[in-house]
Amino acid sequence: MRFPLVHPSLALCLCVALAGSVLAEEKELNLYSARHYQTDEALYSTFTRQTGIKINRIEGKEDELLERIKNEGANSPADILLTVDAARLAAAHELGLLAPVKSKRLESRIPANLRADDWFSFSTRARVIVYAKDSVKAEDVQNYADLADPKLKGKVCTRSGSHPYNLSLMASIIAHQGEARAEEWAKGVVANFARAPKGGDTDQIKAVAAGECGVTLANTYYVARLMRSDKAEDKKVMEKVGVVWPDQKGYGTHINVSGGGMLKHAPHKQAALQFLDYLASDEAQRYFADGNNEWPVVAGVKVSNPALETLGKFKADTLPVGSLAMYRAKAQVIFDRAGYR
Ligand code: FE
Repeated sequence: MRFPLVHPSLALCLCVALAGSVLAEEKELNLYSARHYQTDEALYSTFTRQTGIKINRIEGKEDELLERIKNEGANSPADILLTVDAARLAAAHELGLLAPVKSKRLESRIPANLRADDWFSFSTRARVIVYAKDSVKAEDVQNYADLADPKLKGKVCTRSGSHPYNLSLMASIIAHQGEARAEEWAKGVVANFARAPKGGDTDQIKAVAAGECGVTLANTYYVARLMRSDKAEDKKVMEKVGVVWPDQKGYGTHINVSGGGMLKHAPHKQAALQFLDYLASDEAQRYFADGNNEWPVVAGVKVSNPALETLGKFKADTLPVGSLAMYRAKAQVIFDRAGYR
């Protein structure tokens, strides 16, 4: 068999040119992120240092980012969507925005209940009960159900019922107990409100410490952030409050995730795959834990976070996080009906 003759130097030229164009294409990554944590800076810069791939980050609120990607369609520059809340990841899937990813590394490192074909969780957080030690007894707030008990009348404050953290908690209650009991719970919580929902989780913890309310719900990383704070005012806050892992005798504490996926129209697919793999590396997993006080999804990753250590071990709800999305719309309807704004 004869091959057409190509001068070796020409072949080399062609090769270099091709490699050059691939490199030029892949040395950038457009990241649409709904994570709003300052400590993520190190997470991204380490990736750039390791790979030479520059990250262009666009931050936005969860729903806005989904809307934006949808509207940009095939012209979207977005390679990766990173967001918080499992229902949001599932929504991106439902909208057909994500590309299926086959990665042995992701499959072997991330537990099956924390991923789908086209999205992956990279960290978990739990939704805990925080109470005022001087006005509420720990034994009265051991379960989410307790927040609806008339015993706590005028003592409960939370962030908005439209917020994904509360919607996903509500979705888990619907999944476990059905709509009727979930609605009863929502009505009971609303009847116990110390004030109309406002602010974020940290604001609620501070309100509990200030005596404006007696009990609230908060994601663990907000609690841990206050625990690790050097500010005298934060230390005072944490002296006044107690933290409870809810439902330890039942389904376990509700957990949610932060995660992401590659977008269907990603212009830098190779870089996107590299980035997803990187997020499941020991090093990146440690950033989630040590930087933002979340738990790694990869088993056996050594973290050094005194606050997470102090919080200790707990029984987590094992409901596959993707299934929270199924009840998300219902959760909003029930909250609306209950007047949980
Ligand atoms: Fe948050």
